[in-house]
Amino acid sequence: MPQDPAAKKLLILGAGVGGLSVIKEIAEYDSAAAILDEIDITIVDEDFSHFLGFTLPWVMRGWRAADSVPIRPTEAALSRVNRVTGRVSAIDPQRRQATLADDTTLEFDALILATGARNAVDRVPGLADAVINGVAVHYYDYDAAAEAHRALSGFSGGRLMFLVTSPVYRCPVAPYEGAMLAADLLEATGVRAATEITAYTPEAQPMPSAGPYAGVELIAFLQQRGIAFHAEHQVVAVDSARRTVTFDNGTEAGFDLLMFIPPHRPAVTIGDEEWISVDTATMGTRHPGIYAIGDTTSVTTPWGRSLPKAAAFARNGAVSAARSALHYLGVIDGTEELSGQGYCYLDTGAGASSRGAGDFFAEPPQIHLSTPSAELNRQKTDEEHQWRALWETETPVLR
Ligand SMILES: Cc1cc2nc3c(=O)[nH]c(=O)nc-3n(C[C@H](O)[C@H](O)[C@H](O)COP(=O)(O)OP(=O)(O)OC[C@H]3O[C@@H](n4cnc5c(N)ncnc54)[C@H](O)[C@@H]3O)c2cc1C
Repeated sequence: MPQDPAAKKLLILGAGVGGLSVIKEIAEYDSAAAILDEIDITIVDEDFSHFLGFTLPWVMRGWRAADSVPIRPTEAALSRVNRVTGRVSAIDPQRRQATLADDTTLEFDALILATGARNAVDRVPGLADAVINGVAVHYYDYDAAAEAHRALSGFSGGRLMFLVTSPVYRCPVAPYEGAMLAADLLEATGVRAATEITAYTPEAQPMPSAGPYAGVELIAFLQQRGIAFHAEHQVVAVDSARRTVTFDNGTEAGFDLLMFIPPHRPAVTIGDEEWISVDTATMGTRHPGIYAIGDTTSVTTPWGRSLPKAAAFARNGAVSAARSALHYLGVIDGTEELSGQGYCYLDTGAGASSRGAGDFFAEPPQIHLSTPSAELNRQKTDEEHQWRALWETETPVLR
């Protein structure tokens, strides 16, 4: 993209669901062409490869190969923006600069941070050793999900424990979806009857931000599939030699294979803040002209729960932050607050999915899980096809 030195600079850090949704949102404005005349847009990603999270449990189940999961935007799709491949190492809000690992600096007038969350396995004592010793696996990245599939496929029965290690993690249904898909796989390998499946979490119930109903309905799905659910169990340590997990309430539980949801940390921070607080009226951080969206943010809903780290809210954040940043740069009027409308599909096994949708900002949310069906599973698959088609294309998204 040609650069006018006088043009104002919008810098987007992270080309995953949130960062790319900012581009998609700007492309949908009637004034997109005029905006591109005035604004110089740069998007940075360490590898320009992201994924829709719900495809990872499919790798764990064995329905997808790990290398089929990454979505890589083409040069053509991003042809109207500056594309920089590099790892962001620091953001200086005062000097209006982001620094990359190779010491390149990128200047900005407005910034949208969308670098998401990372797994932080080392935050639970003993967990990394359990992985190294081959008794614990997870499915929160491509390779790990493939490893989890290998471990489950070779599992000959015994105690399979699903463990949510921290209340802050991506996708509130993913642990329970994982447990149901594991049960589905073990049916197929013939060892389900010889396997006790348990799910432990620090949460009072699954999907706590979805209101009083969805979590109870999810527990019923688990019970129907013979999966025992244990709420309010916060792990403090894992002992891979004894194959036990110790919880903060003093209890201990044993496993033969541990399938865990890793602790998370933000991929990039600003100053000493961990998860970044934003004003949901604009997605603004405490630094003027700097916005944050998606998994890297911390938003408390009016009902007093944490807004889930889910694709729907990364996209909603992009809608709000795109407007706010362009308004800050003086090229459009008005801002738009973060929408609390969200949804999630939940695979229950045997090719069926349930869906929960509604307003997460309601007091309380009135979200219910629908009866699982093959049709909902097809809709979920279509969602990936549509998103992938938008970015793996020869057509520029911004024109
Ligand atoms: C197992 C699993 C299951 C999930 N299931 C669902 C689901 O069913 N439904 C749902 O809605 N959500 C689900 N999610 C969550 C969903 O994937 C995220 O909420 C969503 O991707 C968040 O978008 P984001 O833009 O904040 O982060 P991401 O999509 O993760 O994008 C972050 C981008 O930043 C880049 N990046 C990171 N650090 C740096 C750096 N230092 N420098 C440069 N670039 C960097 C990355 O390469 C990546 O491209 C799931 C997630 C997982 C892991």
